[in-house]
Amino acid sequence: MKDPLLISDVPSAWEGLSDQEAAAVLGEYAPAHRARTGRRGVMAADPLSDYNAKRRFDRTPEPAGREQAERPPSAGRFVVQEHHATALHWDVRLEHEGTLPSWAVPKGLPRHPSRNHLAVRTEDHPIEYLDFEGHIPGGEYGGGSMHLWDRGTYEVEEWGERKVKVVLHGQRVRGRYAFFATGGRGGRDWMVHRMDPPEGPWTDRPDDLVVVEPSIGSLPVRGDWLVEPWWPGCRVLVAVEGGRPAGPTPDLAELRHLAEGFGSTEVLLDGVLVAAGPDGRPDPPAVERRLGAKGAAARRLAASSPLQLVVLDLVWHDGASLLDLPLHERRRRLEEVLPPGPVAAPTLQADLAAAPTLLAAAAQQGLPGVVVKPLGSRYGPAAGWITVQA
Ligand code: MN
Repeated sequence: MKDPLLISDVPSAWEGLSDQEAAAVLGEYAPAHRARTGRRGVMAADPLSDYNAKRRFDRTPEPAGREQAERPPSAGRFVVQEHHATALHWDVRLEHEGTLPSWAVPKGLPRHPSRNHLAVRTEDHPIEYLDFEGHIPGGEYGGGSMHLWDRGTYEVEEWGERKVKVVLHGQRVRGRYAFFATGGRGGRDWMVHRMDPPEGPWTDRPDDLVVVEPSIGSLPVRGDWLVEPWWPGCRVLVAVEGGRPAGPTPDLAELRHLAEGFGSTEVLLDGVLVAAGPDGRPDPPAVERRLGAKGAAARRLAASSPLQLVVLDLVWHDGASLLDLPLHERRRRLEEVLPPGPVAAPTLQADLAAAPTLLAAAAQQGLPGVVVKPLGSRYGPAAGWITVQA
């Protein structure tokens, strides 16, 4: 059912998405229907025929599309669904003349007017889809889980064949957005632009940051400290935007998997990439081998002995810089935003009284020692973190 796809056709807007991801979202493509505005009294061909033709309703829980007897003008409801299909995307659907004209937005609606996001015009969906969430079986069109990300009402400022301007009033997304066609493939390539300033104050993600390195020392005798295992591996900054690695993040399959778990939450994390050896103990040379591997060797290692990211710190979150917050506050927020999943392991923490025990345990586990951090420390070169060898 899917058209063969030429990746060379992919617009430059796919920047940041892999070829496989681009192809997966393009698989959800349908020729855009001619806008039916200004044609009162003239019924176009069934606007849901593409929708129905792509689906087997004995296999998918999605509603079948039935033509509405009436086609009211925009009734003003919208929905955004987070769709974990082959490639994560957010489906934005606007109630209009009896159906839901839809766009698949791989990175979600932009929160800032400086970043336009690709929005692939997909087939109109039936009104019943305003409430749909569920699991579409693998192998079916759009297979994967879909859940309601936001719902609300909207106003139309402009509705044309190549440009749609709306004001969204949702629980999570509010503001003026413009969808505009960019040319390619019969009007299927669109972009979405936020016309309002970001909601609330917004600080850009600091992508030029350098990870804070502890100095070697000995256990402090007093004060409020956080004590955590010293994970031997590769310290990295990991940025997530639109459910995908961004900015300074190393290009690793393991991190793409981690990033999807964050959904639309944008973060900049400080962490350490670790690998377990055959005995289950940390294996720093395995980290080096994995990071140095390319192509087929990298894919093999990612499958056979994937790296794990131990997340140590949260330094930026949804437009807020946390650099100047005390460590204990950053850690509290980190625990709130970490998605469940096997990749991001929150670190064990303890206070100074437990440090000698933890130091002995670290040695038994094959770890080089512990790291102690002042609970009030800001993120930066003067953080005063200390590694203590076992
Ligand atoms: Mn979708």
